[in-house]
Amino acid sequence: MSSPDPDSWVVHKFGGSSVADAACFARVAAIVESQPGRRLAVVLSACKGVTDALLQLVNSAERQDESWRAALQALRERHATIAAALLPAALVQEYLAEFDRDAADLDSVLRTTQVMRTGGLHVRDRVSGYGEIWSTRLFWRYLQQRGQRRDIHWIDARTCVIAEWGPLGPGIQWPVSSERLHKLLPPAAATLIVTGYIASDPAGIQTTLGRNGSDFSASIFAALLSAAEIHIWTDVDGVLSADPRRVPDARVISALSYNEAMELAYFGAKVIHPQTMAPAVGRDIPIWIRNTFAPEKPGTLICAHPNSDQPVKGITSIDEVALVNIEGAGMIGVPGTAHRLFGAL
Ligand code: ASP
Ligand code: MG
Repeated sequence: MSSPDPDSWVVHKFGGSSVADAACFARVAAIVESQPGRRLAVVLSACKGVTDALLQLVNSAERQDESWRAALQALRERHATIAAALLPAALVQEYLAEFDRDAADLDSVLRTTQVMRTGGLHVRDRVSGYGEIWSTRLFWRYLQQRGQRRDIHWIDARTCVIAEWGPLGPGIQWPVSSERLHKLLPPAAATLIVTGYIASDPAGIQTTLGRNGSDFSASIFAALLSAAEIHIWTDVDGVLSADPRRVPDARVISALSYNEAMELAYFGAKVIHPQTMAPAVGRDIPIWIRNTFAPEKPGTLICAHPNSDQPVKGITSIDEVALVNIEGAGMIGVPGTAHRLFGAL
């Protein structure tokens, strides 16, 4: 692989388990600061469990169960605790003032949901997206405070990623998204802290990229920034050659082609989702899968033409699949047999 242009962007994405608490935020900041690239875009998920907790608020409000008030307060406590551990008091105040504005909006939405007895899709999208806003605003202040990176900007992906949901999932409107991002990007920007998961629809209403959508966000931003690489930071060492629960000596695969990664994902391996990779594959952007908790390990490289002498990369399986074998003279040339068979199944 040729070394990337020093002026090009590298996108780093950290999932929810990588930003679970204050120690995790510190670990992520140290990883970001140790990167050689001048221009980094850091895409974050919500803190671990927060998206589920937010969706639970809507479920409770729909059931007329007032416990959402206490649950919302618990989310505030959790973020306040992380902020207090990482930021000086004035910045904690500033962070919590923003948080409380969001919480007031959430309170109105949830009260309305309680009256309506149903939240609906737009409400779920809106409510579930706060987790990424809260994690990135916190990390943005924290990274600035540490003083190692320059020109750090917070990017709310709802202002630039325009996605329209269709039968195949969210479709990105590339020309408008690109125009919006480049309009809001300051020329000197060297570090972007970007919300994963959320976007806007063409009418400007908040939408999401679906559950676990932050990998897709990373790939979208890599495409929009013409990035040289994507690093997906997670809690495993890379893509494994087999399911470690069944094959104790499963190994980390050092390099895979996009096609091999897609095949493994299709057959159940815990690789990134094929749809996630599409914007990167289309632009030939290499993807690294790396461990936040062991950043010294090399991880797995997924690219168009990996250098590898391993003909077999991995083995994967899908559970509880039955193979039904039907035979007999009546099968051959008798119209309607297949129809009856599939009908019975
Ligand atoms: N926070 C979102 C979710 O839990 C998106 C993500 O983590 O990728 O689905
Ligand atoms: Mg997640």
